[in-house]
This record gives sequence, C-alpha cells and structure tokens, in this order.
Amino acid sequence: MKKFLILDCYVDEPTCLGVPPFVSPYPRYIYGALISAGLSNENIVYNTIDHLRMNNYHFTEGYDHVFIIGGAAVPGKYLGSRIGTLSEINKILERNSKTKMSIGGSISPLIKSASSNISTIQYDIDKFAFTLTQGNPVDERRTIEECALWSIRGAEIVKHHPWYPNIICEIESGRGCPRQVHCSFCLEGLDREIEFRKPKDIINEIDALISHGVFRFRIGKQADIIQYGTLLNKYNKGFPQPNIHAVKELFDELKKHKESGKIEVLNVDNANPGTIVNWPDESSIILESIADAVTPGDTLPFGIESFDESVVQQNNLKVMPDDALFAIRLVNEIGGKREDGIPKLLPGINLIHGLKGETTDTFKINHKYLERISHEGLLLKRINIRKLQPYPGTPIFNEKHKIGNVITKRFEYYRDRIRDEIDNSMLKKIYPPGTILKNVCVLDLRNEYSIGKQIASYSITVKVPTVFPKMDFIDTIVMAHRERSILALPVPFSINSVSQKNFEIIPGISKAKAAELILKRPFHTIDSFTDELTNVHGELVKVIREKSLV
Ligand code: SF4
Repeated sequence: MKKFLILDCYVDEPTCLGVPPFVSPYPRYIYGALISAGLSNENIVYNTIDHLRMNNYHFTEGYDHVFIIGGAAVPGKYLGSRIGTLSEINKILERNSKTKMSIGGSISPLIKSASSNISTIQYDIDKFAFTLTQGNPVDERRTIEECALWSIRGAEIVKHHPWYPNIICEIESGRGCPRQVHCSFCLEGLDREIEFRKPKDIINEIDALISHGVFRFRIGKQADIIQYGTLLNKYNKGFPQPNIHAVKELFDELKKHKESGKIEVLNVDNANPGTIVNWPDESSIILESIADAVTPGDTLPFGIESFDESVVQQNNLKVMPDDALFAIRLVNEIGGKREDGIPKLLPGINLIHGLKGETTDTFKINHKYLERISHEGLLLKRINIRKLQPYPGTPIFNEKHKIGNVITKRFEYYRDRIRDEIDNSMLKKIYPPGTILKNVCVLDLRNEYSIGKQIASYSITVKVPTVFPKMDFIDTIVMAHRERSILALPVPFSINSVSQKNFEIIPGISKAKAAELILKRPFHTIDSFTDELTNVHGELVKVIREKSLV
C-alpha cells in the first residue's frame, strides 16, 4: 500500500496564517487532492513539525512521498507554538535524504537542494500532489473547481491536528492583489492572476469543517476582504470598484451560521485602506456587513507600512497618511461599537522598516501620526511593527536595497516609544478594567502565572496569577495593562483561596493591602470582602462582586 505524509511546518505569510491554533488551507487542500486522486485515508498521514522535533527530524516510517509545507516570510513569536524554520526544514531534507519530498508554501523558493529527491513547488502543492499520484506530476495552479472540491474533501484532516479541537481554520477567499500597482516588498503582488472563490464554495467548505468539529473561522487568505469578488472592470487610482453584492452574499450567510450557533468565532483579515479611500460609499456598506457578521473583538489589519510620504511614493504603497487616517476613522465609526463589552471590529496597522526612501525622520513621522490617531480618540486594535525581510522575486529584493545602521537605531528607538506610549494607551481604552474576556485558552505557565489567549484573530495575551492546566479555557476580568498584554483575574474569583498576587493586580490595592486581605481570610460573605476595596473604582468593585466566590 502506498503511503504519503503531509508534513505541516506551519506558515506565517502576509495573507495566510497556519501557526497553531490556526490551521492553514495548505494541508487541508493537499489531503483533499489526495482523496480526490483516489487514495483512501489510510494512505495518508498528517504530522506537524512538533512531531518531527520529538524524533530529531527523522521520519518514523517509510513514505512514498512527503509533502512539506512551510512559510515564515516574517518569523514571529507565537504563544504556545513554534513555526518550522528554514534550518529545521533543511535538517528534515538532509536526515531523510532517501525519501522523495516536495516543498510548498512561501519557504519553497528558499530551499537550495540539488537532490533529485526534492522538488520545490512554485505553484500549488495540492495540484502537484494530485498529479503526482496520477503518475504525471506537474507544478501548476489548481482551478477554482478543484479548490471547491479539495477544500471540502480535505476538511477531515483537521481531526489529526495536534491542537484539535482547539483550532481556528484560515479560510481562503481569493488570491492575487486586485490593485493595479503593487507594493515594492509584496509577494502577493507577484501573483498576476486574480481569482475569487464563489461564496457557495466557501460556505460548503466551512460546512464540511463544521461537520468535523470546527467552530472557529477566519476569512483570511486574501489581499483585501473589501475587494472580495470585485469584477475588475472599473478603477479609481488603480483600485477596482468593490463588489457589494459578493461580499454581502458571503457575510450574510456567515452571519446566519453564527446566529444558528454553528460558528462561535468568526474573524476576517487584511483590508486595503486604499480601497476604502477610493471607494468610500461601497466600502461603508461592505464594512457594515462585515462588522455585523464577525464576533466581537475582531481586527481589520491595514497594511499602511509607512506614514512617510516619500516612502509611500517610492514603494508604491497604498495610501498617503491623511488617507490612512480616513480609513481608520471609518472603521472606528462602523465597527467601534461595543458588543459584550468589547469593540466589534477595529482597524489594525502594519508598519515596516526597511523600505526604500526611509530616513532618520521616517519613524518620527510614524510616531507623530500614531499619536494623532490616539489623540483623536480613535482605536487601533493592533500595531504590528516589523523589519522587512526582502523576499526573493519582489522588486525590493531584486534591487538589493540596503539599510544603514543609523536608520535602524532610529527605528528601534521609535518602535519602543510606540510600544510604551501608543500601544499601552490603546490597550487601556479597548479593554478597560472590568472587561470580561471569555474563553481564554491557557497556553503557557510562567512564574505562577497562566498565560493564554482567546482562540481568535490577533487576540490579546492575558496573564492570570493562578495556575491552570495548559489548554484549559477560563473566563477572566481585566485588571491592568502591560506591554502588549493584560493582567486579569480568573472567573469565578475565589476570594478565600487565590494567591496574594491576584489581589495585588487589582487597581487601587497596594502590596501591603493585598497582604492584609490574605490575613483577614476567610471572608464569610462577598460583601465583607468588597467592603475592604475602598480604594478600588466602584464600577470595578461591582464586577468583582458579581464574579466572586467565597
Ligand atoms: S496592496 Fe500592496 S501589500 Fe497589499 S496585496 Fe497588493 S501589493 Fe501586496
């Protein structure tokens, strides 16, 4: 019996996340392609890089072919998980050199191996897998029809994911960048063929995943969700007219799934502020529809990249600074209303260092605009600041653009200021003390703290001074804010058994007062405890009272 391995080394690409708890479409589509090629599920094994790490990067059995997926165009830090790196993938190739392997995902062009056993796949590895098992392997794009079928047939693979059922599935809605001009650094811009999946195909895939126990989804694998289904027949400054009908058809159905309880978490990813600025009327209707469908606390990330006009021009970025502000305002206006105490949908911002035209002033300008956004009372759910790692094939890579040390030092100075000044004040406004954050999944334990996140897009890190088993889900009450994280109390709050640290994180309670509270235990009533909280804000005391247990 032939045996195939799908090895998921996880991906973090500009338009696709597949680091746990996220599961990218790559392994799902490959599995669906293999099943469609006539293989049975006994022929296919799904493993992840975590499994290979435990086996010193050796396969534990023989395979006819191994399909490796990897992509860390911009390696990041992940709570509770670790993406497979290029050096790890190279180790796998070396230590299993007798096995035939193919590599897909954005790591593929970085693999330099002369072995005839190794194929680097430029197009779709699922299509390669399908044609390989038919005896005629080709490296080409899958069709929309193949995608529709393979995505459904591949859904059952999620049951073999090490984090199942604590996962969120990244759902593809289309590929290629619908903009006529492309940014100097972007991989997506290299994909000249723009295509969108049909709403019914996306919903059918989601239904298949639901039938296999998935209830969290992010419509995330696309360049710009506002442009979903654009007809590409009318442009304003290089941005096509959005297709209201297509977006509404998709999100109305997703909303119905959410309301019927089939979907518990619904998120989106990636929107282009240039679309919003150039098509404000269409964009407003679309944003209303998306904000209505998603679950509270969602983020709409904008690739602003820089607020420096010269950098915007030299890198063909999407928007000038004032246009960026317009898009940020509009999303705040439409998505900023609170549901369950949390803003429904807020913009996020991506900034990049390493673009053409940067000077020592660039980062001061970025800081100034972010300060302006904050002073206007606008909210940003997330400010992502990263150093560019030019990717092969992109214009900026081909030009071998160099960055001076002085500029990098300036970048680091302003990055830290943004973290201290802007990020922190945004966090306080988005999650004021007393906000309830439900279903936080414990992913790590450090110094008597449980550290976790909600299984959702760009969820905030929550630190709770009580130890819970890893992968437990807890409800929490926000107390204080740290750099890009929140300190919170567990719900229920057991006042007679929690550690002193729990009392110390309540705003208004000093270390000495926390020690005094410990000595005064046991409290026989909740009121006798809350009567002690004289320096704590009344509204916060109310929430603590509601969630306390004697
Ligand atoms: S607008 Fe720029 S960054 Fe966004 S997908 Fe297109 S080319 Fe890439």
